[in-house]
Amino acid sequence: MKISLLIPFYNEEKQIPITLDTVVPILASTGYDFELILVDDGSRDATWSVIGEASRLDNRIHGIHFSRNFGKESAICAALDASVGDAVILMDGDLQHPPQHIPEMIRLWEAGFEVVEGVKMTRGKESLMSRLNAHVFYGLFHWFSGYDLRNASDFKLLDRRVVAKWRRLREHDTFFRGLSAWLGFKRTTFAFEVAARQTGGSRWSIFKLAGLSINAITSFSMMPLQFISIIGSLMLIGSVILAIQTLFNWFAGTAAGGFTTVILLQLLIGGSIMLSLGLIGIYIARIFTEVKGRPRYIIGSTTDEK
Ligand code: UDP
Ligand code: MG
Repeated sequence: MKISLLIPFYNEEKQIPITLDTVVPILASTGYDFELILVDDGSRDATWSVIGEASRLDNRIHGIHFSRNFGKESAICAALDASVGDAVILMDGDLQHPPQHIPEMIRLWEAGFEVVEGVKMTRGKESLMSRLNAHVFYGLFHWFSGYDLRNASDFKLLDRRVVAKWRRLREHDTFFRGLSAWLGFKRTTFAFEVAARQTGGSRWSIFKLAGLSINAITSFSMMPLQFISIIGSLMLIGSVILAIQTLFNWFAGTAAGGFTTVILLQLLIGGSIMLSLGLIGIYIARIFTEVKGRPRYIIGSTTDEK
């Protein structure tokens, strides 16, 4: 039996040694054979040479280097594709997912659970903005898709059978948290406290996060598209009522030369058409990416090729 630990790294040269020194003894203490798969998501600092050095010193450490920054979701895909363990554990490289929980995750897996998910007890130290973003995103995601991922995290253990099914998912833009819920299987959760980051700050820019949120919602829900028809129908009903009233006034001879009504209607209709077209555009863009069928990531080099 083998455990795989998968960690994505983006510009984490200082953090990697700290993380490895923490997780290796913990993995060794579980008594299982293990491998570490470290993905360098196209970092611009020395991340790749640090990973290379670590894998030279310890042959249980395998590194994958992307040709450019493809994002954490792609790094997760690459690590899952490369892993060979009977159980696969995914965690962040910055130790915000406390590795002290790994033995507990493995125990739950031994007890027969195929997916063991980390649930955030608290969100740790975070800016008000990022807390607010998360709140709005998870609220919308729950409302649109029906999956409540509030406090969910990417800190998860998956059984080999779940990973095999995951590999058969073909979509280009993945959302690991949502898709692993969609896959089902026998699941359980454990609670953890988000630890503070020791080096640097979050690697996510607001634009990357907004992109991920839009992808996540549009890949799990058609509701925004259906919204357009709902808004359209409501507008139609409103227009009929307004038309009847206007005609009534006209026949009664009390109609005013109403500039206000005209301009308000213009703005309202114009605005909702733009919004609706934008929504359709987002879905078409997604279809476009999927149809192109490009790979999710490009591997520049790995530590295993000699
Ligand atoms: N990460 C990545 N590619 C990216 C951004 C982040 O592989 O484009 C990695 C990062 O190195 C870290 C993990 O994903 O190991 C979580 O990132 P971060 O701590 O910045 O996210 P946060 O904790 O703010 O959600
Ligand atoms: Mg972090």
